[in-house]
Amino acid sequence: MFKIFYPKEYIESVFMLTPEKLKGLGIDTIMFDIDNTLVPFYIRKATDEVKEYFESLAKEGINVCILSNSKRERTEDFICGLDIPYVYRARKPLNKGLNKLIKRMGVLPSHCLIVGDQIFTDVLVGNLNGIYSVLVKKADKRDEWITAVKRPFEKIVLFFYFRSLKNDKK
Ligand SMILES: [Mg+2]
Repeated sequence: MFKIFYPKEYIESVFMLTPEKLKGLGIDTIMFDIDNTLVPFYIRKATDEVKEYFESLAKEGINVCILSNSKRERTEDFICGLDIPYVYRARKPLNKGLNKLIKRMGVLPSHCLIVGDQIFTDVLVGNLNGIYSVLVKKADKRDEWITAVKRPFEKIVLFFYFRSLKNDKK
């Protein structure tokens, strides 16, 4: 049940997605959500930690890009001049924004990984398009209201997801 919503992995922090790990998975492109994934939603600009992390990925030949449902201003404020392809107002889980990004990057979905803090946007758009989906623990306890209303439903999916992981281990 709910399998289309299950991430391929659940991680505590985006920074756990190291170049070594990505290469091991055959991934050459990583697509990031911004809010509560790379930074808490109220942090406007990419932090030094994020910038260094992006550099470490790029240095190892991993393509870094942003797929955000946020407005143009929020997305561009965050990017703050970094040379990274991005799509704002992506309307995840719809695939229009995703397709735009894929086309621009010239990459194969099967070699892409998407990471975000929300099941019904980030994970779902990945799963519907053959992209390796990773759910990350949200970067801050608080959510914007538009996200907060979805969390109780996420909790139900996560209950079944974690239970399925336990059953797999048996
Ligand atoms: Mg988010």
